[in-house]
Order: sequence, then C-alpha cells, then structure tokens
Amino acid sequence: MADGLLKDSVAIVTGGSKGIGHAVVAAFLREGARVHYFSRTKAEDHAELEALAASGGGTVAWTACDVADEKGVEAAVDAVAASEGRIDVVVNNAGITRDNLVFRMSLDEWDTVVRTNLTSAFLVSRTAARHMIKKRSGSIINVSSVVGIMGNGGQTNYSASKAGLIGFTKSLAREVSARKVRVNAVAPGYIDTAMTEAIPEEAKAKLAAAIPLGRTGSPEEVAKAVLFLASDLASYVTGEVLKVDGGLAM
Ligand code: NAP
Repeated sequence: MADGLLKDSVAIVTGGSKGIGHAVVAAFLREGARVHYFSRTKAEDHAELEALAASGGGTVAWTACDVADEKGVEAAVDAVAASEGRIDVVVNNAGITRDNLVFRMSLDEWDTVVRTNLTSAFLVSRTAARHMIKKRSGSIINVSSVVGIMGNGGQTNYSASKAGLIGFTKSLAREVSARKVRVNAVAPGYIDTAMTEAIPEEAKAKLAAAIPLGRTGSPEEVAKAVLFLASDLASYVTGEVLKVDGGLAM
C-alpha cells in the first residue's frame, strides 16, 4: 500500500519504538508522512525507518519523551509544531500493563498505568489541539483496547485507562469538531507484541479459540485501521471506536 494518503502530513506517534506504534510509524512513512515518534528508547531499526521514509517521500525523527511527564510532553509537541509549522495527525499509542488482582494492587500500579495510558493522551492532545485548532484541521487517534469495552480480570487499572480513553475520545471529538479536528479511537483485541508475548502458549491457544477469526492479530493490522482514521478516507468519521479484534468483542 502506498497511495500517498498522508503525503506531507506531519504526524506524532507516541510509543513508536516497538509493537503497534512502530507498525503505525512504518505505515505512515509508506504513505509519505513526516513522522515524529515519541518514546523513551529509539527504535532498534531506526535506520530502516529512515530508508522507508526516503522511499515514501517523507521523513522520520525520534524524540526521547516520557509521555507521563507533563513538561516533557508539552516541549516535545511544541517543538514539532515549531519545526514543521503544523501538526496534522496525533496517535496516542504509548501504553503499559501492570496486572494484579484489585485487592493486591498498589496505588503505584494503578497510578502508573492510568498516567501512562490515559493522562498521556490528555497531555499530548491538549498541546497538539492548540495547533490543530488554529489550522482548522487535524486527526487524533487514541489506541484503546477491547478490554476497555469488555473488562478483564486482573487488569482493573489497564481496563479503566482504556475505557477512560473512549470517554476522552468522544468528549474531545465533540469539543473540537466545529474546528474541523476529528478524534477517534481504535480498540485492538489480542495483538502479537511484547505486551502479549508473556502470555503462556496454552492460554494463547484458548484466547485464539474465543476469537471468531480464530487467531490473534498483528501490529500491521491495527496500523491499517489507524491509517484509515488518520487519512482523508475517514473525513466524515469522528467520535468512533473502531475495534480491530477479529470479532472478539462483538
Ligand atoms: P509494546 O510493544 O510494549 O510497545 C509499547 C510502546 O509504548 C513502546 O514503544 C514503548 O516505548 C512505549 N511507551 C511505554 N511507556 C512509555 C512512556 N512512559 N513514555 C513514552 N513511551 C512509552 O506494546 P503494544 O502491544 O505495541 O501496545 C501499544 C498500545 O496498544 C498500548 O496502548 C496498548 O495498551 C495497546 N493495545 C495493545 C494490545 C495488544 O494485544 N498488544 C491490545 C489492545 C491495546 P519505550 O519503551 O521505548 O518508551
């Protein structure tokens, strides 16, 4: 796929160093975007991303940024706007798990997950929206999860953060729609990344059996949905939560 869907668009992707975020960065680069990804570590294959950018006619840059850090996020987002002159797309993807049963969960396990997964989207979007509103255009995509819809035992902190992202998406969509900024979410199911590789094989087989399409998904399959929402293909779509889950949560 290389139709120039994001030609010359300036995109910020949080958590672009690996997993789903990395696949989003690659998908955007194939479509000609100028991508800035924020994470604590640089992608191991950053040089390959640069080659992809060159072949797609765009650029890629890494910013060391902890998305839970208010000042750091503001500075990183403003720096992109200052150097590029605008921000067209934001993908709030960075996320972590700290699983525990609720009666054993520490306040730190709760706070760290909510701050990294949910508060970060508020921080990035708050600063980016100021720039988008001025330009009367933009697309924000929040990476939620089917567990934000269905719930999951052992993940009260994570599920709450992902459900919170859905409420945040719809409220922000209502706030900024008059300024032509669209806000949507994707809700992936079980996707093969570092986040899910700790699940034992037996449990994975059980999970796959519960998925109507009979298998787990790939980061690239989520990236395609994010690309759709980011691009003009979704010009009349806002406040939507697009599940990418093989039918798990229908
Ligand atoms: P992953 O492979 O573990 O990647 C997580 C990404 O987030 C990394 O790039 C990591 O970069 C970044 N990150 C984590 N904490 C950060 C922080 N404080 N500041 C900046 N960046 C941070 O996970 P993934 O599976 O791709 O997950 C990506 C998103 O999809 C998450 O929001 C996750 O909740 C969601 N999701 C995943 C699944 C799944 O089955 N995998 C399902 C539903 C939803 P650094 O470590 O370099 O900072």
